[in-house]
Amino acid sequence: MSVYDKYKAVIGLECHIQLLTKTKMYSDDVAEYGAIPNTNVSVITLGHPGTLPKVNKRAVEFAVKLGIALHSTIREENQFARKNYFYADLPKGYQITQDKTPICTGGYVDIKLKDGTEKRINLTRIHMEEDAGKSMHDIDPFESLIDLNRAGTPLLEIVTEPDFTTSEEAYSYLTEVKKLVRYLDICDGNMEEGSLRCDANISVMLKDAKEYGKKVEVKNMNSFRNVQRAIDFEVKRQIDLIETEELIAGETRSFDATNGSTFSLRSKENANDYRYFPEPDLQPILVKQNYIDSIKAIMPELPSDLFKKFTKEFGLSEYDAYNLTDLKGLALYFNELVEHTKNYKAAANWMMGSIKSYLNENAIAIEKFKVIPKTISDLIALIDEGKISNAAATQKLFPELMLNPNESPLSIAQRLDILQSNDTGALQELVNQALAKYPEKITEYKSGKVNLLGLFVGEVMKLGKGKADPKMANQLVKEALEK
Ligand code: ADP
Ligand code: MG
Repeated sequence: MSVYDKYKAVIGLECHIQLLTKTKMYSDDVAEYGAIPNTNVSVITLGHPGTLPKVNKRAVEFAVKLGIALHSTIREENQFARKNYFYADLPKGYQITQDKTPICTGGYVDIKLKDGTEKRINLTRIHMEEDAGKSMHDIDPFESLIDLNRAGTPLLEIVTEPDFTTSEEAYSYLTEVKKLVRYLDICDGNMEEGSLRCDANISVMLKDAKEYGKKVEVKNMNSFRNVQRAIDFEVKRQIDLIETEELIAGETRSFDATNGSTFSLRSKENANDYRYFPEPDLQPILVKQNYIDSIKAIMPELPSDLFKKFTKEFGLSEYDAYNLTDLKGLALYFNELVEHTKNYKAAANWMMGSIKSYLNENAIAIEKFKVIPKTISDLIALIDEGKISNAAATQKLFPELMLNPNESPLSIAQRLDILQSNDTGALQELVNQALAKYPEKITEYKSGKVNLLGLFVGEVMKLGKGKADPKMANQLVKEALEK
């Protein structure tokens, strides 16, 4: 047993998600990523004296949507608070956030681990706030640059209970959160562009200890993978410290992606005192039950609901269901496809096979896929009715359909002359020809080399120019050989 096995890690995550609203949290400034620096900055964003903030209604709607999806309790009376601190990217000198009255409390996210086990991660709270501007220290060799376009853009902060015990659980949680906010259309979930950010609180304790160890907060991870690396590094660092009888300092650390380590930013003793106080310029926002109900009524189907439907109602494997619900666009396309076909397994296979490969190879999103679901169901029907073979459908018809997305599969099959004859007489003739070609192989087959069956079937398919039904060819060849 290694020393590391004596300990367990305790981890809580704080995620910021940037909302896809048109305007900022407390002003009409446009909130968009990638605009020319410092062009979306009004006097409200700058906090000039005499200006008044107002709350973005859409941001409240998004918070309620997320709260419903995460099974949280949604607060009726929402107050805002000022969190005061001085930094160059914070022109007002304070951030307007929610302190004691977060819009959502409680709730949970169910995660699935690689070994198939499931775990529930409980949420502490979700609150509304605004982002700061962006400082850039690596563009100009002499000066730090500041872009205030981001100042004031709406954020939701999701805080979990310290429920994670491994970095894999944290990774899986982030994957679920990203999937969910995309389904809800409230955030694009792009961690590289900073629209989903995550800080990790990490401590370690002896497995039988009663109290948590001292926690360290790690910031500045720009990918899920790096969150995982930061946690792994930090857990090991903390155990090593305890084992050499050193104390863990309660501090904030930063992640260095170049070598996968963390380094100290500031200690708890130097922690800011933010002097929270109620925001005097904003009235409380009332979120009434009838408003919550109206949002519930327009909630899209969520990945977890779709997963259940795909496995329970359609009998798909968990693997298929997981892949089909991974991206909202795929799930929606599949949902429409199964309105036209009851062959759910074939529908899933087409989605995850030919269609997904085509989309990947051409770097096209499913939303831009030109073939409508009804056409794919027609294609499936042609195969199910025995009119074309599965091989001809994937190798010949599908590629041709990609070039002519509006043509019907039947018309393409006719044009390519791949409709298979269900005429046993004609097929029997091909079988006879194939057998006649290799008389000595028939003897070998009869003396026990049964894998020669493939040779004859292959010959039949060749003679039939791909139009023969392989299943039927197989059967007829077998019958002929065993006569
Ligand atoms: P703070 O007062 O430092 O902000 P909070 O109690 O508000 O701390 O918790 C912030 C985050 O840290 C939450 O996600 C919480 O789950 C997590 N957390 C709290 N205690 C611990 C601990 N001992 N180890 C790891 N994470 C913790
Ligand atoms: Mg806190």
